[in-house]
Amino acid sequence: MNLNGKRALVTGSTSGIGLAIARALHAEGADIVLNGFGDEAEIAALCKEMGAKYSAANLLDTAEIEAMMAEAGPVDILVNNAGMQFVSPVEEFPVDKWNAIIGLNLNAVFHTTRLAVPAMKEKGWGRIINTASAHSLTASPFKSAYVASKHAVAGFTKTIALEMAQSGVTANCISPGYVWTPLVEGQIPDTMTARGLSRDEVINDVLLAKQPTKKFVQPEEVGALAVFLCREEAGNVTGANWSIDGGWTAE
Ligand code: NAD
Repeated sequence: MNLNGKRALVTGSTSGIGLAIARALHAEGADIVLNGFGDEAEIAALCKEMGAKYSAANLLDTAEIEAMMAEAGPVDILVNNAGMQFVSPVEEFPVDKWNAIIGLNLNAVFHTTRLAVPAMKEKGWGRIINTASAHSLTASPFKSAYVASKHAVAGFTKTIALEMAQSGVTANCISPGYVWTPLVEGQIPDTMTARGLSRDEVINDVLLAKQPTKKFVQPEEVGALAVFLCREEAGNVTGANWSIDGGWTAE
């Protein structure tokens, strides 16, 4: 139980990768604050399972982020994980989708970070973990907003790491390849349309084609990496972008 007494806020933790990270941090003893959308009863069950608090804040709204951070109180571990995707050729990319992706994947990360950092600096300990993506290091066609937002998060994270370098606060990105979650499932129909492919062709020839292991990354594997970054032994790991992508970005 390495993380006893630490409070961890994980955004976008009602589903997928964020939920796995929250569970992994909880298993190490952290007090969890969940955030994200979903079925009320399912969220209540998650809160019960982890003894967690929950914020329903919509991270596209700065005032709601500010209220969430005030309610959560000082957090020791901030995991900026909420994110969304949309697949379209750039000339047809809906402007509202572009704004939402930049708003959630990038702007919200700035807001939670600026609000969490003062208490971390005061305590002389903190961990900021941003779920970026293999798309923070490389690009794929038809994902202009997502790739732009994730490259930006990688740069933001390095900057924060430097600003915090002597404060006991680390900032790192975790960059998964394809993890089988609702976010990936949801992009299959649009990718079928954008590329003129069948569902199986999208899974095997577009998604898994990127990953030399030919396997989806498991959410629990991402959770384990987040736990490592929170450990004392990781105190000198900062400003890094940790790939967990089955070898995708090694090629
Ligand atoms: P997911 O769709 O399963 O989960 C997204 C979470 O974000 C959910 O809890 C959802 O309720 C929450 N969310 C969405 N909009 C929100 C908003 N406006 N305000 C607050 N919460 C909101 O997706 P996932 O695959 O688990 O993705 C989590 C993160 O991992 C994202 O940042 C994503 O870009 C990144 N990522 C995913 C993959 C993958 O293959 N699944 C790969 C690389 C990076």
